[in-house]
Amino acid sequence: MSVERVEQQILAGTLRTGKTYGFDEAHDPTRPAQMWFQSAPEGEVLFVVFYSQACRWSQCLGCNLPSKSSRRPVGYRPLMEQVDQLFRAPEVLARRAQIHKVILSNNGSMLDEATFSSTALIYLFARMNQHLPALSVVTLETRAEYVDLAELEFLARVLKEADTPRALELAIGFEAFDERIRNELFFKGLSLRVFEELVAKLAPYGFALKCYFMQKPVPGVSDAAGIADIEAAIDYLAEVGRRSGVKLNLHLNPTYVAAGTRLAESFARGEYVPPTLRDVARAARHARGKGLSLFLGLYDEGLAVPGGSFLRAGEEACVARLEEFNRTQDYALLDRVAEGDGGGAAE
Ligand code: SF4
Repeated sequence: MSVERVEQQILAGTLRTGKTYGFDEAHDPTRPAQMWFQSAPEGEVLFVVFYSQACRWSQCLGCNLPSKSSRRPVGYRPLMEQVDQLFRAPEVLARRAQIHKVILSNNGSMLDEATFSSTALIYLFARMNQHLPALSVVTLETRAEYVDLAELEFLARVLKEADTPRALELAIGFEAFDERIRNELFFKGLSLRVFEELVAKLAPYGFALKCYFMQKPVPGVSDAAGIADIEAAIDYLAEVGRRSGVKLNLHLNPTYVAAGTRLAESFARGEYVPPTLRDVARAARHARGKGLSLFLGLYDEGLAVPGGSFLRAGEEACVARLEEFNRTQDYALLDRVAEGDGGGAAE
């Protein structure tokens, strides 16, 4: 696909859904956009966001991640330099022997070769093989339609050559289970057919799949309907996982109000309120006994408008319980939050 065509696609998607943000052309293209560590019982988790050309889809309501990216191409040389910078960063050097999982993002699709070069991707995997001796899971964020069998085959070979066993997990945004909310209101552009085709592509390789969902992703959805949508998603993923044998994880993000989006306009008019943590726990506990792993996203990436986050003052005990649930999958913790033990907004 030509360079001009990719840029046109990004701009068309941005305009189609009324996004008002600009792109970040001031960022040094030889440095990753962001990186941070999270602690997990198995070891350190390194989250890296590369700075690349923006998401080619760029349409999803409420998403302003492309504002952290470039409108223009970022070639394989600066992307490879970002990889080098990553492995030179003092915080990475200090913890590299403890890093058990790496989550890779470019605020778009790591497997869209039009915006993230294949040369740089393979270089990144080679450097991880070389420098991260304790690595056991690599997560790649992508849209489903950019996943090619050729890429999966090659990544499987590179991972197999590592000194220690390494699992691959793809992570896609599903956002809402209700078809109308997902595609007509949220503009996700994801059909169940494309999703199930992706699951079928992953099955022979034994690769896992994480699905990001948002609770109350659009205005006009009641709190009860937001909970019911997540419950329907849990039932569907549990069934697809059983049928395909692919290891599925539901990653539930309570929605926050991102600046420069239509959700922010609705929020300013008083028509939208982010979900409460109690309702997040009420929805999540539906997964009990269903053979699905669940992770609750409790980080708003600092991208929420003032007052537009699901994190509210006085809810520290709820957050601590939900974080503990992420580590233990102990559903009694969700029951306590859902029933209001430890504070938290009721509605
Ligand atoms: S949610 Fe993902 S696919 Fe949708 S516009 Fe944002 S970066 Fe692109």
